[in-house]
Amino acid sequence: MWLAAGGVRNRMRVYPGMRLKLSVPLLRRVALGLALAPLALAHPAAAQDPAGSGGRNSAEHLDKPYVVVVSFDGFRRDYLDRFETPNFDRVARAGVRADGLIPIFPSKTFPNHYAIATGMHADKHGLVDNNFWDPEFGAMYRLSDRSTVQDGRWYGGEPIWVTAERQGMVTASYFFVGSEAPVQGVLPTDWRVYDGDVPNEARVDQVLEWLRRPVETRPHLIMLYFSAVDDAGHRHGPDSPEVERAVHEVDRVLGRLLDGIDALPIGDEVHLVLVSDHGMEGVSPERAEYLEDHIDLEGVRVIGGGPYLTLWVEGDEARAERIEQIESALNRGLEHARAYRREAMPERWRYAGNPRVGDLIVLAERGYQVVGTRERPAWGGGAHGYDPETTPSMQGIFLAVGPRIQAGLRIPAFRNIHVYPLIANLLGLRPNPEIDGRLDVLEPILQPTTVSATGAWQRANSHSY
Ligand SMILES: [Zn+2]
Repeated sequence: MWLAAGGVRNRMRVYPGMRLKLSVPLLRRVALGLALAPLALAHPAAAQDPAGSGGRNSAEHLDKPYVVVVSFDGFRRDYLDRFETPNFDRVARAGVRADGLIPIFPSKTFPNHYAIATGMHADKHGLVDNNFWDPEFGAMYRLSDRSTVQDGRWYGGEPIWVTAERQGMVTASYFFVGSEAPVQGVLPTDWRVYDGDVPNEARVDQVLEWLRRPVETRPHLIMLYFSAVDDAGHRHGPDSPEVERAVHEVDRVLGRLLDGIDALPIGDEVHLVLVSDHGMEGVSPERAEYLEDHIDLEGVRVIGGGPYLTLWVEGDEARAERIEQIESALNRGLEHARAYRREAMPERWRYAGNPRVGDLIVLAERGYQVVGTRERPAWGGGAHGYDPETTPSMQGIFLAVGPRIQAGLRIPAFRNIHVYPLIANLLGLRPNPEIDGRLDVLEPILQPTTVSATGAWQRANSHSY
């Protein structure tokens, strides 16, 4: 068992024993799995749903481990040190903790959950913001609009659950961004329409129910999402007692998940990957600048407001010239923000290459906000969206634990695009070759293949991918 119940003080002593306990039955299951492989080939492909696993694991997956990915929206990296988090600490001791998880640009919820899911930057995966205009569709994507959230045409790349389903592996998702839409025509086997009112305990209990299903229909990949920390951070700021309370709340819920997994017969086959999409920065209405003070907004469409906003400029011939005029006027007038026309956006953002990115983006310095007009003035509390490379407070968390993960390891911060290839490797899936992430970034956290039982499994199956 990778996490002794109440093993807060138990340190790493359980792990060698855990691996011994694992080795014999797991190897037996491996042998069984290999023996079953020809049967899988003989099985008529037509019996399976061509758009996914059809709700049944193909024979090659029956002996594979399980991965539960949990996102704690807006959980800033330093919350783990500033607040009491006994259950996150259990995971860190038994597994790996990173100093931080670096978001893609922009450090917003939808772009980053989808970067974690697809291993891609926004220019490639296409969710360039929480709300954005698509000039080709002539339509707005909005995170609050189910008709866009559930429409697969908005989603590029290949979320990890789609990779799994396409290879005949059952998956499930409780509210992970992107999992309500058929991407490439594929949904997780089980998924839920987002409803922030569903109690966190109910989400955990559903995950545990999924893990108790018969092996044929049991999901090997489960995605889970909690919003409590982000909600408190926006309303009250990252240094508030409300954020501390929210961290305690999700830590308690995490404990319920850990104890529940520990009690399962397959508990020692489960990997847990804990992430967050971004951090949080304190903001105030006093630290805001308004575009209307510097440019004429006639014929300019303003999307968003806060750490950054996006501008689309109307018109034909004079359009390029007007964009340059707006850029220079804003850069003369704004003290704590900078405007970039598309061509001037930094390459490292991996952003401007997507046609959904506006004509201009106006990005504020840490702690400042940019807003179109005073009709919808800047707010206080907390915000995110700043340049993740230059704003450490935008970093989230990464922890992982499980039979193939080393125990007690601390690693430097890394970019969230590298999570996808790790999950694909843990599940023995062929990763989407188009990803930006690389397996070598997180490969050092895996158990050396020569000593772990699951490593033996990996070697035995290495010919297949
Ligand atoms: Zn978020």
